[in-house]
Amino acid sequence: MKFCSNCGSDQIVFIIPEGDNNRRFVCNNCDTIFYQNPKIVVGCIPLYQDKILLCRRSIEPRFGFWNLPGGYMENGETVEEGAKRETQEEANVDITIRHLHSVFNLPTVNQVFLHFIATINKIDLSPTSESSELRLFNYDEIPWEELAFHSNKFALETFFLNKERNESKVHIGSFWK
Ligand SMILES: [Zn+2]
Repeated sequence: MKFCSNCGSDQIVFIIPEGDNNRRFVCNNCDTIFYQNPKIVVGCIPLYQDKILLCRRSIEPRFGFWNLPGGYMENGETVEEGAKRETQEEANVDITIRHLHSVFNLPTVNQVFLHFIATINKIDLSPTSESSELRLFNYDEIPWEELAFHSNKFALETFFLNKERNESKVHIGSFWK
């Protein structure tokens, strides 16, 4: 951070403010403290007749890899709305969110992923601006080596674990890079 977004000054320091425990960017000119907190990424496991919808990414990062639909939550929406919107944007499908499936912490990049179980109401597998290919996978067809992110792998692995055990447990995982 170079300039204060409050007063425009370049007198930004990175210090522990009085009464705080963490270092923060602080403006020496107007005393504004800039708190930085993790971002929430919301997505889902979209199910259609016992198959899972994956999107092949046509955007960076991890261009060309398979991914569950998901993305950054926006201000003013709920996590369920965010997951639905991201799925609409990436896969152009209308879904119904069923329940929370997994929480995945990425403390080194300051992100938290939430994946919901969702059912697809109407399917259209044409590519979108963010996905070059959309495909329904049987459980034994998941391209494990070509999945884009650890959070996806975790969500899918625990999905199958639940299925095997006939449970609907919410799983919490972490990845330290
Ligand atoms: Zn300032």
